[in-house]
Amino acid sequence: MTAYRPIQARIHLNALRNNLKVVKTFAPKSKVLAIIKSNGYGHGAERVARELAEADGYGVASIDEAIFLRQKGFLHPIVILEGLFSEAELDLAIQHRLEFAVHNWEQLNWLKTSHVTTPLTIWLKLDTGMHRLGFDERDMERVLTAIDRLPMSIHLNLMSHFASADTSDDFTQKQLSIFNRVAQTLNCPKSLANSAGVQRYPQSHFDWVRPGIMLYGACATDEMVPGLQPAMTLASEITSLKWIEAGETVGYGQTWRAERRSLVAVVAAGYGDGYPRCAPAGTPVLIHGQRLPMAGRVSMDMLTVDVTDMADHVALGDEVILWGQGLPVDVIAQACGTIGYELLCDVTQRVPRVEV
Ligand code: PLP
Repeated sequence: MTAYRPIQARIHLNALRNNLKVVKTFAPKSKVLAIIKSNGYGHGAERVARELAEADGYGVASIDEAIFLRQKGFLHPIVILEGLFSEAELDLAIQHRLEFAVHNWEQLNWLKTSHVTTPLTIWLKLDTGMHRLGFDERDMERVLTAIDRLPMSIHLNLMSHFASADTSDDFTQKQLSIFNRVAQTLNCPKSLANSAGVQRYPQSHFDWVRPGIMLYGACATDEMVPGLQPAMTLASEITSLKWIEAGETVGYGQTWRAERRSLVAVVAAGYGDGYPRCAPAGTPVLIHGQRLPMAGRVSMDMLTVDVTDMADHVALGDEVILWGQGLPVDVIAQACGTIGYELLCDVTQRVPRVEV
């Protein structure tokens, strides 16, 4: 390992490329807007954009993320999914040839009153039930009239976002039918599917799919998608080993008590690296291909593992996989009551990303 502290996030470049191919097998007729916001779900936006150069465009959250990619030389269409946060961003968006969602009247008014004459590509966002961003179906006629009257020429796309395509069929069908009702009145490119939509709802694929998490080889749904490969392995090493007696406790708060004489391995990974502090005792790590249980609370820089069952086979410097190839991030996320997305995004700056 390169850094002195033996933790690294290995980014599997082949896995990124492979996962894009898997997306394309699910949605062969659609263009792919690869979602690489939040630093490419923690994997490094520049590297992800580079590896996914065969995508038809990139989706990001903000103009800063978009400009970052432009400055790195990427020429693909880039869509700002949350749209512009202020009128002042419009000139920048034009300067960098950025496309953006338009989801409320303020944003439409900025376009209406702007001095801009350059043609713009906007992604009109319809609220089909997420109730976060977007215009209601009942307002669409007024919205479309307002767009027709804008001073610049507009290339229109229609988009919406699923709330629970991973879990709820009824609600997703409802969203789909609202989207379809509006879509059939418009002769423009359309986009609805996130990863769960890509995987579970072919009828949601339309012209553009917008996968995020599946590109990184993690789960959008409970069904493991065959062929996807984890794109990040968070790995560290055993940095200390200690025998403790039955009845003794390990770590802050003394939350874990040894039921037998136990060998405790210290691993250089903690919440300062983005490993979740809420991971309970018993959450697995992978050592020599075997899942072994964490013991005690996660500290800022360390966590501890009960390696008694492998006492004869472990040594200082042995590799410990926290998640990734061999141990899906979703397993750790589930133990913590969260989702793989959060864990991937939360890997901190001090963890070197190493391309493999
Ligand atoms: N489209 C939009 C508008 C999003 O906000 C996101 C992510 O939150 C995605 C697509 C990708 O979602 P997922 O990572 O579940 O595929």
